[in-house]
Amino acid sequence: MKITSVEPFILHVPLNTESISDSTHTITHWGVVGAKIVADNGLAGYGFTGTHAHLPSDRLVTSCISESYALLLLGEDARDGDRLWLKLARYPAVQWVGRAGVTQIALAAIDIALWDLRAKAAGLPLWKLLGGATIERLEAYNTDIGWLSIPKDKLVEGSRRAIEHDGFRRLKLKVGHADPAIDIERIEAVRKAVGASVSIAIDGNGKWDLPTCRRFCARAEPLDIFWFEEPMWYDDIASHAALARSTSIPIALGEQLYTAEAFSAFIGAGAVQYVQPDVTRLAGITEYIQVAHTAHSHRLPVAAHVGDMGQVHVHLSYWHPATSMLEYIPWIKDCFVEPIRVDGGHYVRPEMPGAGCTLTESAVSSYARPC
Ligand SMILES: [Mg+2]
Repeated sequence: MKITSVEPFILHVPLNTESISDSTHTITHWGVVGAKIVADNGLAGYGFTGTHAHLPSDRLVTSCISESYALLLLGEDARDGDRLWLKLARYPAVQWVGRAGVTQIALAAIDIALWDLRAKAAGLPLWKLLGGATIERLEAYNTDIGWLSIPKDKLVEGSRRAIEHDGFRRLKLKVGHADPAIDIERIEAVRKAVGASVSIAIDGNGKWDLPTCRRFCARAEPLDIFWFEEPMWYDDIASHAALARSTSIPIALGEQLYTAEAFSAFIGAGAVQYVQPDVTRLAGITEYIQVAHTAHSHRLPVAAHVGDMGQVHVHLSYWHPATSMLEYIPWIKDCFVEPIRVDGGHYVRPEMPGAGCTLTESAVSSYARPC
């Protein structure tokens, strides 16, 4: 299965709503930036990373794909997964300018496309190719009701609807106001509306510092918080370890970590209890597998970040034995030949061959931007 072409692409997909905000970001579009890899058997694999749809930044990624990695792949056997991953990840000239950031997410897109291609060639969905589903049903937790940009009354209304009407049992609320008392009030209002049996996690998106987090956690602990996600700056291992020692609320993080080594450092320091790898920020599925296995060997649960590549995370979550739930944010579901579906608070297991990344012609023609 020789690789005959590697074509980069950029899609800017409008959100289902006007805009969304967490403590750090506000976006109106989502960037689907990646590569289509074609083999001599006629099959095409799709892989991409997620961006904030900022064209100059997106072009850094596609330039890395087309001008650095593509030439290393042409003529290679697409079935040689680990060998090709190493060839690209350790290519001296590229490694020299980035073991994280642009070169890493460009490699993520390529690695995912190669897995998509191999799964299609095998005639199997990715979860089956990896070893089969280890759970009957993958629970979805709803983050889409909890954006920071949603006023408190709408937050309560949406939370109630998600539980009573849509069948979710788990919610995640964004936090990170300049005055954390506002966040406490919002969580209290939702807890009161949905009752004690609903799981409520929170996500700070790296906004606060250690003293703020400690004061906040002391007030939030009685509200039965399932986890506190990204409470502080993404790379700060020491502060997360200190917070983990001082609060009973479990710490979750990982969506902003670029390497398996970064995960190992957080796990080794006791700074994380829920491990949240993102296949598009790590160097693809190949490195995600390393991280998930590492977490599992420490008996830590894995809950993949869904925002950037939901459909691949559905496959990985059905497969990996450390995972029982996955975030739900339905912002780019209209792009795929096999759309992501949630029914009664659970993900419908994908069944088409591949990793679920094949884009529809209409998505490509509607949302494409020049690379
Ligand atoms: Mg998050």
